Amino acid sequence: MIIGILGGGQLARMLALAGYPLGLQFILLDPSADACGIGLGEHLHGAYDDQQLLARLAEKADVVTYEFENVPADVATFLASHTRVYPNPKALAVAQDRLLEKNFLQHLDIPTPKFLPVTDLTELQQAMQEIPYPAILKSRTMGYDGKGQVLLKSARDLPDAWRKMHGVLAIVESFVPFQREVSIIAARSPSGEIAYYPLSENQHAGGILRVSECLANDHLQQRAEDYVTWLMEALDYVGVLALELFDVDGHLLANEFAPRVHNSGHWTIEGAETSQFENHLRAILDLPLGSTAPRGHAAMVNFIGGQPNTGQILAIDHAHLHLYGKVPRKGRKVGHATLRSDDSAQLDSALKKLVAVANSVDDS
Ligand code: AMP
Repeated sequence: MIIGILGGGQLARMLALAGYPLGLQFILLDPSADACGIGLGEHLHGAYDDQQLLARLAEKADVVTYEFENVPADVATFLASHTRVYPNPKALAVAQDRLLEKNFLQHLDIPTPKFLPVTDLTELQQAMQEIPYPAILKSRTMGYDGKGQVLLKSARDLPDAWRKMHGVLAIVESFVPFQREVSIIAARSPSGEIAYYPLSENQHAGGILRVSECLANDHLQQRAEDYVTWLMEALDYVGVLALELFDVDGHLLANEFAPRVHNSGHWTIEGAETSQFENHLRAILDLPLGSTAPRGHAAMVNFIGGQPNTGQILAIDHAHLHLYGKVPRKGRKVGHATLRSDDSAQLDSALKKLVAVANSVDDS
């Protein structure tokens, strides 16, 4: 079987690494000549809306999926008229626009922070009569890792904040005083079977994920599973999806969802019976889903901006290194390490060491 992937970055790379043992082959469409996943399959080199390349992809791939959601939605629609595309184009369209996404979540009774759409400075000023400070102004599209976001502390910030948006459509939402950020990752097959991973607790800095820890038996697991079930069923979703949530005094508020494998699920590579990457492939191929049970305690630390020293990481007990083969650049994720242990104290001690190394190479 040949899997087509829109995007050739590290998520495509890890999907391919999970797919080789299952006898799968990969064909990746990516505009970049040096995307880090392209060595793992045939590379279609060109724009995401290049009609000839899309026709080749549709012809060659048994099923097409994405590793990043900012592919034009009509590209997914075009592909879906020629081959199987999972998740379906509707999931992509909803996830790539923060306003559609938040309206969709609210329509499903999944709580979100209070938000309002904004198209100009006057609307922003009007919206801020209803939304308390502090608040966040976010571009509706092309936002990830905190990009396209401005914190609003008072009415004085509004003109400058709006200038920074460069006229794009936006939403403004209340800044949530959360105790924790968590995410739930689940895989759904075409028949509607869903497998849920334990919640991940996620630490961000500067809008970028730094550390994720697997939370076995968290008291909010069931609530999060309910929300992700409603979302997947409403979208008739196939594949892995990640729903990011804020825990505010034991209540979950949805921030956003990613229609793909997700950085907060990288701990599943060694930390779960079946990784999120393998389960995504199983789901889109309509194969039985694998167990999502954690293998003891697990965590993940991102390396951002600089390459860690391989020997130094491998000297840390329970650490498994995953480098993406990317040239380091400020704020760029170049790899991660997964930790897995049967003993929580050992995991905590290894995590501290790993975070220290990650901080020492981090330039952001
Ligand atoms: P996003 O790009 O929406 O995932 O935002 C990146 C990060 O910014 C989140 O993971 C949070 O740490 C923070 N953030 C985003 N929206 C909010 C909010 N409404 N309240 C508090 N923090 C937020």
